Amino acid sequence: MIKARGYAAHNNCSGLVPFSFEREEPQGGEILIEILYCGICHADIHQYKNDYGSTQYPFVPGHEIIGRVKETGKGATNYKKGDWVGVGYFIGSCGHCTNCLNQEEQFCENGILPTQNGKLPDGSITMGGYTDCIVVHENYVFAIHPKLRKPEAAPLLCAGVTTYCAFQHNQIRKGHKVAIIGLGGLGHMAVKFAVSFGAEVSVLSSSYSKEQSSKDLGAHNFIITTNQAAVNAASERFDFIIDTVSALHNYNMYMRLLKRDGTFVVLGIPSENPKLDLRLLTSHRRKITGSFVGSIEQTKDMLDYCVQNNITADVEVIPPDYINTAYERMRKNDVKYRFVIDMKNL
Ligand code: NAP
Ligand code: ZN
Repeated sequence: MIKARGYAAHNNCSGLVPFSFEREEPQGGEILIEILYCGICHADIHQYKNDYGSTQYPFVPGHEIIGRVKETGKGATNYKKGDWVGVGYFIGSCGHCTNCLNQEEQFCENGILPTQNGKLPDGSITMGGYTDCIVVHENYVFAIHPKLRKPEAAPLLCAGVTTYCAFQHNQIRKGHKVAIIGLGGLGHMAVKFAVSFGAEVSVLSSSYSKEQSSKDLGAHNFIITTNQAAVNAASERFDFIIDTVSALHNYNMYMRLLKRDGTFVVLGIPSENPKLDLRLLTSHRRKITGSFVGSIEQTKDMLDYCVQNNITADVEVIPPDYINTAYERMRKNDVKYRFVIDMKNL
């Protein structure tokens, strides 16, 4: 067994506290990774709080992992000791269902194995990346190109691929008018990708303090969502809306901003479901859809795209004992734009 140290929650109000546990040695095809950086996604906070009622404690979050290969198990041939690698939202899928065979593993019909809070066949629970090491099958590990800055590359493994896939799947391109709601971890990556794809980008934010930085990220317009008149003025303006808000909010207000045949893409997953006025869909033939992280191939594509276009996240690097403060700040929308834990000081 491998001794691991990290941070875990013991219940939904314990905070994240130092935690020691053991990981299995790498088996066939698996590799042991020394974790150097891990991003904090709002999904970690939802699960810490047991927002969806499915959290198993002790809960070790973390699925935006960057580190170096420490050891390769038997039959693992894709990586060698010392390589920079990444791990994202899931570390397993059945490999034989229709979705896996169509390279859509994130929708595995037999259920993906999430990197955190996932149930293994023996009933034990996967421990995520807020630790010093992790063991993962090489098929779910990504090469991190030397050109990608670290730790800024860590958030690409979830925030990056989630937003990239939302654009790719919906074929959002040059000429489209796109609104991004919520300028946090996902939101700021969405702005970067939308700008690089040539879309006209508007940020809809509840935080005045993010106006200037949204322009610095390349957004063309900024609408403060606490000002109803400013929101109303954008009525029927957008081809696409990408909603990255983590808390329950007024979806009907935003649906009105879509043109005829416009598409509302849900990425943020509040713990409660909203009330939706269906007439807003029928009256303008609007569509509502969702997207969930990305497949293995899409993650590789996204990482290549980021290398070619020099895209990484804007991060605030923190020591592990700052995790609880980071969670508090994220709950107050006070993040520009992703906290990344530096594991050096564990
Ligand atoms: P984040 O960094 O905390 O950003 C969320 C942003 O939403 C905030 O910065 C804020 O932006 C806005 N917001 C939060 N509460 C709000 C409220 N009450 N009213 C209006 N705006 C509010 O979170 P994240 O890591 O980007 O994650 C966002 C959501 O996506 C979470 O629900 C997460 O679980 C989900 N997620 C989904 C996927 C997927 O595959 N679909 C993947 C990863 C995460 P402003 O300050 O600009 O208003
Ligand atoms: Zn995430």
